[in-house]
Amino acid sequence: MPEIEATKSLDDAPDITANLRRVENEIAAAARDAGRDPQSITLVAVGKAHPAARSRAVLEAGHRVFGENRVQEAEAKWPALKESFPDAQLHLIGPLQTNKVRHTLALFDVIETVDRPKLAAALAKEMDRTGHRPDCLIQVNTGNESQKAGILPESADNFIDRCRGEFGLPVRGLMCIPPVDEEPSLHFALLREIARRHDLSWLSMGMSADYPVAIAFGATHVRVGTAIFGARPAR
Ligand SMILES: *Cc1c(COP(=O)(O)O)cnc(C)c1O
Repeated sequence: MPEIEATKSLDDAPDITANLRRVENEIAAAARDAGRDPQSITLVAVGKAHPAARSRAVLEAGHRVFGENRVQEAEAKWPALKESFPDAQLHLIGPLQTNKVRHTLALFDVIETVDRPKLAAALAKEMDRTGHRPDCLIQVNTGNESQKAGILPESADNFIDRCRGEFGLPVRGLMCIPPVDEEPSLHFALLREIARRHDLSWLSMGMSADYPVAIAFGATHVRVGTAIFGARPAR
């Protein structure tokens, strides 16, 4: 039975290298259309829920920046991948529990989902303890969705100030996940405006369905899963 499964998934494996090149080309085209330097945009390849072999294929194709949304899954996949590719960079793009802060800071290079004072305080404490201070992004819940993580837009200014001042976090920018059923550009514009007020330069926005639009609105980081790795298997 496992034999059959393995063969089947091999046959179904998408051509990851071709997918990666296509996404890279589309990023470059969207950047040129917006009058931006393609080099100013970082592709974060999101391999969540896929086997580690697919992330390895992307690494072998020369890509180095990745995103995972679950700390435990990343701990299972990434120590071995980082051993083979020490310059790989891993972004946390999913919700972070304060009791996982230590493990998270030991493995991830960028934390994109800082969204509440209790988490900011825990991150600051662990960074002070270890001296290891990965770049942080603040996640903004631009759609005011009750089920979604992120600081609400009305509280964002105050929270950003506290993260930088009171907690002393290395805040580089903002991240958002627009509501699935809404025009994303309004959310991208809102995120860009909040970042502008605070002179923050990184904007992590745009996924498989809308990264060219996000680039038109100033995204510096696009998080792309399905368009590179194929459809995710059910968890
Ligand atoms: C899964 C995920 C992505 C990638 O989504 P795709 O639509 O597969 O490109 C991007 N950002 C976050 C926060 C995610 O959880």
